[in-house]
Amino acid sequence: MSSNRREFLLKAAAAGTGALLTSSFPDVLRGGTPEEGSPGPLVISSANGIEAVKKAMEVIRAGGEALDGVIAGVNIVEDDPNDTSVGYGGLPNEDGVVELDAAVMHGPTHRAGAVASIRNIKNPSKVARMVMERSDHVLLVGEGALRFARAHGFPEENLLTDKAREIWLRWKETMSTQDDWLPPHTPEDRNIGALLEPYLRHYGTIHCSAIDVKGNISCVTTTSGLAFKIPGRVGDSPIIGAGLYADNEVGSAGSTGRGEANLANCSSVMIVEWMRLGKSPEEACLAACQRIVAHTRMARLRFDDIHPSFDVIFYAMNRSGVYGSASIYSGRSMAVHDGAGARLVPCASLYPRPASLK
Ligand code: ASP
Repeated sequence: MSSNRREFLLKAAAAGTGALLTSSFPDVLRGGTPEEGSPGPLVISSANGIEAVKKAMEVIRAGGEALDGVIAGVNIVEDDPNDTSVGYGGLPNEDGVVELDAAVMHGPTHRAGAVASIRNIKNPSKVARMVMERSDHVLLVGEGALRFARAHGFPEENLLTDKAREIWLRWKETMSTQDDWLPPHTPEDRNIGALLEPYLRHYGTIHCSAIDVKGNISCVTTTSGLAFKIPGRVGDSPIIGAGLYADNEVGSAGSTGRGEANLANCSSVMIVEWMRLGKSPEEACLAACQRIVAHTRMARLRFDDIHPSFDVIFYAMNRSGVYGSASIYSGRSMAVHDGAGARLVPCASLYPRPASLK
């Protein structure tokens, strides 16, 4: 082996040792110096991320870049057995197996990484980052994603807690029409499959975006996806442009809620592009809600001629440090840490929440 190649491999191995914990970017690639009047640091997330925004802010204040912060933040929720929508303790697919989705986007280098339907790995957000930093790909799925994680030393563990198993068992015992398999139907048919029964079927996810002290932007979305999904179902969370998007020149956006709606509407990239054209983060999030309402044409997904039978929530920030959020239905909130402490802030919305919707 030539000494150059040996040196390269030794350096690469040394970088890999610490790669689970810190960025392996040399400073020169981190996106330059702060802009005059750079607004950072700022961290926003879905409402389940109060602890996440605190952690992210702590990491960023200690000199971490935005991506270090948001990943450290969402790791708290991925590790929490009581959050049944993310990571360890997430509700399983219809076979009782937990399958996780996650993606990251790094503004300064405009790179992204993602994993979908990955089993047995508690922190898919870290694997997503590894895909970004240590492969030439953006998205790995299923067995391939697990093998990649294994190769990088991620420990495998059973992610199904007793609490999640009991909830799954109740669904299994009573499922009848409460699954995702549909018979042949027309756009007008209403009683096809059941509306999501509020307790048994639920969505849930954490999205987190941040601006660091250099004014650089990054984001992450991580989830166990739709509870009791058909095995292999992938939602919007690991899909760049749907469940999250960041552009260092403009801002960042992400979503929670019915992923199928975001997949068909490319919502997160739309929000960032609307901000580029001059909309505020809140206006852009509301526009994404309106776009979904306008495109929801199947009667089985609507309460009436207008109102969807599901909700989607958007979170966005621009590079000036303005943040905003919106959901189709009222009553949602987002978590924010702008340096003055972590707090929940109400989301804008299009319609009052119907009693039948969780
Ligand atoms: N958007 C996620 C998905 O569809 C779930 C959620 O946010 O609740 O997988």
